[in-house]
Amino acid sequence: MYWTFVVPRNVYLQLNKQAVERSTLVATILYLHAHPDDESMLTAGSMARAKANGDRVILVTSTNGEEGEYPEGFVSSKEELAEVRRKEVAASAAIIGVDRLVLLGYHDSGMAGTEANSNPAAYCNADLEEVAKRVAEIIKEEGVDVIVGYDSNGGYGHPDHIMVHKVAVRAAEITGVPCFQATMNRDFMNEMMKMAAESGEFDGLSEDERPSGEFGTPEAQLDTFIDVADYVDVKKRSLEVHKSQQLGVDFVFKLTDEQLRMGFGTEWMISPNFGDGNRRTWMA
Ligand SMILES: [Zn+2]
Repeated sequence: MYWTFVVPRNVYLQLNKQAVERSTLVATILYLHAHPDDESMLTAGSMARAKANGDRVILVTSTNGEEGEYPEGFVSSKEELAEVRRKEVAASAAIIGVDRLVLLGYHDSGMAGTEANSNPAAYCNADLEEVAKRVAEIIKEEGVDVIVGYDSNGGYGHPDHIMVHKVAVRAAEITGVPCFQATMNRDFMNEMMKMAAESGEFDGLSEDERPSGEFGTPEAQLDTFIDVADYVDVKKRSLEVHKSQQLGVDFVFKLTDEQLRMGFGTEWMISPNFGDGNRRTWMA
């Protein structure tokens, strides 16, 4: 990601005017993520906000992230990368204030279309029922009230992210606990990319190298808009400890507080009651 953040945030806050205000205190929320670092960009704001509300926050990270790209010379093997990334997610969880971190330990499936997809140990090839039961066990043990997984395309089509969607949905079915789907707001992303392109951010990149507009879910299919502007610093700091994964995100550390609030001050989800005509501002 290379764009700058210049979209007026009040455009998105206006959406919240008709919002359903948070009416119920959520006691325990389980966030299911694919790789160490996905928690930072996608949900660290709502996790930190939940903590500020006194809720119990559980982070379940599915894979070791050993297929991730890393700066040259950072580690010498996939095993070492897995070890580093497990430590990084623990540090990130501590910054967010996560009450319990569970590492499911599956092998990273790699980006769609890569050789790693066919590794029998890859998360995307694991038995769905078996994984869902592992997550359901945690849900029952902790008395979880809400699960947060991903949308059906996992945000951008990564096999591990799509698996997270399936596992979260199935674990919700097994336990009867409602499941929210965290994702990116495609319209917001497109708007940011358009502005970034206009300001010359992508100059010198070929058509292939430019970010595509197929991230996340169109805004019309989202009903949960969580204001996390007061927690963007937590997001930034949690991202910062994923030292092995700074390629392509280093721009974040150059943004001003105001830019951070504009670009990362809202997190989007699809509620299990999508279609009832309500806009939500919390997982309630
Ligand atoms: Zn990921």
